[in-house]
Amino acid sequence: MTSDTVKKTHKVTLIPGDGIGPEITEAMKAVIAASGAQIEWEVQHAGEAALEATGELLPDAVLESIRRNKVALKGPLTTPIGHGFRSLNVTLRKVLDLYTNIRPAQSFRGTGARYDGVDIVLFRENTEDLYAGIEFEKGSEGVQRISDVVEDLTGVSIREDAGLSLKPISVFGTRRIMKAAMDYAVANDRKKVTIIHKANIMKHTDGLFLRVCREVAAEYAEIAPEIEIDDLIVDFACTRLVTNPERFDVLVCPNLFGDIVSDLCAGLVGGLGLAPGANIGEDCALFEPVHGSAPSYAGQNLSNPTALILSAVMMLRHLGEQSAAERVHKAIAEIIDEGAAITYDLMRMREGTTDGASGTKEYAEAIVERLSR
Ligand code: NAD
Repeated sequence: MTSDTVKKTHKVTLIPGDGIGPEITEAMKAVIAASGAQIEWEVQHAGEAALEATGELLPDAVLESIRRNKVALKGPLTTPIGHGFRSLNVTLRKVLDLYTNIRPAQSFRGTGARYDGVDIVLFRENTEDLYAGIEFEKGSEGVQRISDVVEDLTGVSIREDAGLSLKPISVFGTRRIMKAAMDYAVANDRKKVTIIHKANIMKHTDGLFLRVCREVAAEYAEIAPEIEIDDLIVDFACTRLVTNPERFDVLVCPNLFGDIVSDLCAGLVGGLGLAPGANIGEDCALFEPVHGSAPSYAGQNLSNPTALILSAVMMLRHLGEQSAAERVHKAIAEIIDEGAAITYDLMRMREGTTDGASGTKEYAEAIVERLSR
């Protein structure tokens, strides 16, 4: 091998995560090792594994590693509901300012999902909105003081026993997510960008989002006149997505609607086991599946690692490893289409039973075998 053909090694932070995270991470590593790309994983633990080892849920070493390597791949992290614990996933996105969340939902042949031909790429603003984590507990001084100001300014009184969450949506935050969506649409020859909002009700937040997205779109009119821009109110968008998903192309959403609508889109193409994601900022990128840690399936070699593997495929493209990315994507498509070695979720959708389903490991082995042909 001459020096010209020596492949570049990419150092990537790897966070296996909680629940099903470690087993789908092992499956993903086996597939990426067979892809032809040279990846050196720097394993870091966050969440339950880190708490046990270091007493901290998010040790500084994790953030340092991501900042140093600039690229990370993460399994799911558990977030207990309620009570004084902020989601580690949300914290990572905020601390690293990973403002663009990209969630593709693309049909694979042979899944048995309700729809074929879906090819949606959802852009979710990742740092603002009700997800910003600005919350005040019922009975707290924060609720009291904000209630006083609100009553003073609007005459509206907030019930004494209410909790409060704030929904900031800025021009700055909206401009950069819409630019990311438009740049993607231009670079990937997409035909339409649909802005999702609830501007009719929340005029100063979603209304601002819609107006600023439209302004940004107008700035692209000259360089990309062929891209159609439209907008839909989120509730009607959900109806249209389940009746005519093939009509959608690129979606751009504020944070909370993006979270919900992307799970809906995952359902269109066969469920959370198939839904990858990327969180991109100016300095770093963190790739992760849409799904969570599915604790009741943990350690059983049952779960579908495809969403994590497809997140790794997005990572390979980000690293410029196009041919490795295409090879893995093609191998997954073939294995799913053939149906001989698929996990329980795909088997149930395809055949109506989980009988004959493969385990996480065996499914990954089938993909590795296909890559080695
Ligand atoms: P979940 O996505 O973990 O699981 C919901 C259901 O989806 C599971 O019961 C399972 O039936 C199915 N599923 C999920 N992943 C699958 C896979 N890879 N293969 C096959 N089936 C799969 O959602 P949840 O139960 O609401 O959340 C569990 C925990 O994960 C919570 O603590 C939540 O906060 C956290 N979470 C983390 C992330 C993240 O790390 N980015 C995302 C969502 C939820």
